[in-house]
Amino acid sequence: MNHYDLVVIGAGLGGCSLVASLEKLGYQGRVALVEAGRGPGGRTASRRSRTDPRWCINHGAPAIKLSESLPSAVDGLLEPLRNAGTLQPVVNHEVAIDANGQVVAIDPASPSTSQWWTGRPVMASVCEGLLGQSSNKLESHFGTRVRWLKRPADHWMLSDQSEGWQLKAKRLVLSGNLLAHPRSLAMLQWNDVPLRTAVPKGVDPELDAVLTTLEASASTVRWNLMLDLGDVNLQTPALPWQIGLNPDAQKRWGVERIVLHRQTDARLGLVVHGLHNGATIDPSTQPVLLESEEKRLEAVLPELLLHWPALRKALKSARSMGVMRWGAAQPLNHPVPSHLQWCHQSAVGFCGDWIEGPHFGTGEGAIRSGVALAERLTADS
Ligand SMILES: Cc1cc2nc3c(=O)[nH]c(=O)nc-3n(C[C@H](O)[C@H](O)[C@H](O)COP(=O)(O)OP(=O)(O)OC[C@H]3O[C@@H](n4cnc5c(N)ncnc54)[C@H](O)[C@@H]3O)c2cc1C
Repeated sequence: MNHYDLVVIGAGLGGCSLVASLEKLGYQGRVALVEAGRGPGGRTASRRSRTDPRWCINHGAPAIKLSESLPSAVDGLLEPLRNAGTLQPVVNHEVAIDANGQVVAIDPASPSTSQWWTGRPVMASVCEGLLGQSSNKLESHFGTRVRWLKRPADHWMLSDQSEGWQLKAKRLVLSGNLLAHPRSLAMLQWNDVPLRTAVPKGVDPELDAVLTTLEASASTVRWNLMLDLGDVNLQTPALPWQIGLNPDAQKRWGVERIVLHRQTDARLGLVVHGLHNGATIDPSTQPVLLESEEKRLEAVLPELLLHWPALRKALKSARSMGVMRWGAAQPLNHPVPSHLQWCHQSAVGFCGDWIEGPHFGTGEGAIRSGVALAERLTADS
């Protein structure tokens, strides 16, 4: 069985920033990265079409806002991506609409000391670029969802559902909280929280505090409808890259925003970020909900695109690429305190957008938390 100094679960912005920062800091241990998805990206992943090789759309975060003044370690990590053109500032304008469907100014509360950045050619390229900074020594396991965690004596054992795939590690990092949050129970039909089972209550007070914090935390749900609009002339008049809905408009239409994504050919992709109405989502209700959300979002679009005749016209022949459900799109509350990012006694750590900080719940927060944990792990090794 493969034995590692460190196993990182999750190849989103948090996990990829951690791995890339460890490399920069000269971490010497043997590291493995395990990811359930087919490739890196997590919530910044991009959806490819199985039948159309040129189609790829940002169906999660379409861009991330980055502070103008980033900590130097974060800036140093992103600099090669900027230089390579993998991370680019968004140049098109963005607009908002109000509950009457009128175009209004963007919320003045949004900070002007930050700028939207997007991945080129797609958002997943950012995580791919971060992993490109790590050495050949990194062993990546994609398409593998860890189900079971055990902590016999002083190491960690990880396995998938069938237990046919296993890894052994001295130290473990969870960059997503699926294995530590009770939300997994209903959707994945698990009857335990794997991290809780591995380290029973009372053994490690720091880990207990992390799990108690997470237990109380909630996240937003999104239903993202993806459309291929075909060829749309972007110039007359210039189209925004993002149409936000202000809070009253969100209530009226059950939509958070509409994002346009130019494909590498002349086609235009459109993603509607649909809000959740609170219905219970589990394996029995999900197929019906996916279908009803697709119909609902398609039905409200013409009204939302009233001011963009080119888009309304393109809707008539648009091809639906389906709906993506994000069960935990962005955490809402109860961040895990940053001093608990590393639980020494159990040799387990955490990074991701669910860690405390001014950028909690965002891509920037995820990157910062990965960098911070790398510094801690390097100092500790
Ligand atoms: C629809 C949507 C819109 C968003 N819009 C914005 C935005 O405009 N601006 C912004 O800054 N942020 C936005 N976000 C949030 C942003 O995407 C996240 O903050 C960021 O990507 C989180 O990165 P992460 O590494 O913390 O988590 P993730 O990207 O979720 O990475 C965790 C990874 O761990 C993997 N994983 C979890 N459990 C296991 C397991 N047991 N075994 C194997 N792998 C596992 C998951 O598959 C996942 O890839 C948006 C998110 C969504 C979904």
